Amino acid sequence: MECGADGPGVSGRVTAGQAADWFRSCYQAPPAGIWRAPGRVNLIGEHTDYNDGLVLPFALDRDLIVVGSRRADGVLEVRSRQAGGAARALKLAAIAPGRVSGWATYPAGVAWALRSAGIAVGGANLVIDSDLPQGAGLSSSAALACATALALTGLYGVAVPRTDLAALARTAEQEIAGVPCGIMDFCASLLGQPDHALLLDCASGAHEAVRLPLDPAGLRLLVIDTGTRHALADGRYAQRRQECERAAHTLGVRSLRAVTRESDLAGLPGTLRARARHVARENDRVRAAVLALRAGAISELGPLLTASHASLRDDFAVSWPQADIAVAASTGAGAVGARMMGGGFGGSVLALVPLADETTARAAVAAAFADHAWAAPSFLVARPSAGASRLA
Ligand code: ADP
Ligand code: MG
Repeated sequence: MECGADGPGVSGRVTAGQAADWFRSCYQAPPAGIWRAPGRVNLIGEHTDYNDGLVLPFALDRDLIVVGSRRADGVLEVRSRQAGGAARALKLAAIAPGRVSGWATYPAGVAWALRSAGIAVGGANLVIDSDLPQGAGLSSSAALACATALALTGLYGVAVPRTDLAALARTAEQEIAGVPCGIMDFCASLLGQPDHALLLDCASGAHEAVRLPLDPAGLRLLVIDTGTRHALADGRYAQRRQECERAAHTLGVRSLRAVTRESDLAGLPGTLRARARHVARENDRVRAAVLALRAGAISELGPLLTASHASLRDDFAVSWPQADIAVAASTGAGAVGARMMGGGFGGSVLALVPLADETTARAAVAAAFADHAWAAPSFLVARPSAGASRLA
C-alpha cells in the first residue's frame, strides 16, 4: 500500500485504526503505540492566562492522533496527513530555536523541550492524523504538542506528571514554534475530563474539575467557525500582551491578577485602563461562572459569555466583524449567550444554546453571514470530553 497522504481518513473523523494502517503502509511494521490529544474550548476567561489569571476551558471531543515507534538513530521522522503526508526527518541533536520551520516545529519542539529538561527520549517515527480544524481557535497546535509529548514519553517508558508535560509542551510552542502562548491549552488537552470544565489558576497552576453536564440541562455549546483566520504570530496578540505588561508595570504590580478593584485602575491612561479592566472583570466572570456551575445553574453562563464578548470587543479590542455578527445573530435567535473565543482577530465564536433553539440559531447565523456576502460559517457541537490518553 502506498504511503501517501490520500489514504483513508482524509476527511471526516479520525480513527486510531486508520492512522495505524497509514503507519503500517509507511513503515511496513506495526506501531509500538497510539496516542490521542484533544483540542479545547475555553468556556470563559479570555486573555487572562498570560496575566496570571483564571480560565475555564474543557477538552473537546475532537482529537489529534499520533501513531509511533522508536528508532535508534537519533532522528525524529514526522508526517501529518493534514500537511500532505510527506516525511520530515529531523536530527534530534540539531533541533534548536530558529532551526526548524513549518508544522514540524511542534513535534520537534516537544522532543527538544523534553530532552532539554533531562527527560531521556530519543528518535521516533510518528504519523499524525487529526479531525481538529487548524487555526480555528480550538488549539490544534496544543493537541499536536501534547499528543507528541505523550507519544515520546510513552515510547521511551518515562513517566512525567501531566502538569510537567503541559509546561514542557508550552515551552516547545514558545521556544521552537515561536508562539507566545499561555499554559491553558496544554492543561485543557492533558487534564480534561468528560462532562467537566477545568478551572485553572494560571498564577499557581492549581486546577480543579468543575461539572458541566450540558445534556441534562438541555443545552448545547456550539462552536461557530467564522471562517476568518488568526495568526498568533502576528503583531496584535503580542501588542495586547505588552499593553497588559505596561499596565501592570505602571500600577507597580507583578501582573494584572493583582487588580481586584476598579478604583485600582484610576492611574492608568485610557487604552491601558480599558485593557486592564477587561482582565480584572474577566477574572470575576470566571469566578461567577464557576459559582453558577457549582449551583447547577448552567444557563446562568449565558449572560457571562455575552458580557465577556462585549468586553473583548470594547475594552480589549480583539473582536472582528464576523464574530460580532455571529454573537448578535445567535443571541437574537435563542442562544442564552455567546462570545468570541481565542486570541482574537479571527477564529470561532462559542454560543450556549437550548437544544430546542439550535436549528434556529444556526440558521440565523448562516443568514446573517449570507447578508454580508461572507462565506458560510461552519458549526461544531462542543462536548466536554476526556483529556489526552494512550489508545494502544
Ligand atoms: P490553533 O491552535 O487554534 O488551531 P494555531 O495557529 O495555534 O491554531 O496552530 C495551528 C498550527 O498547528 C498549524 O499551522 C500547524 O503548524 C500545526 N498543526 C495543527 N494540527 C496539525 C496537524 N494535524 N498536522 C500538522 N500540523 C498541525
Ligand atoms: Mg494554537
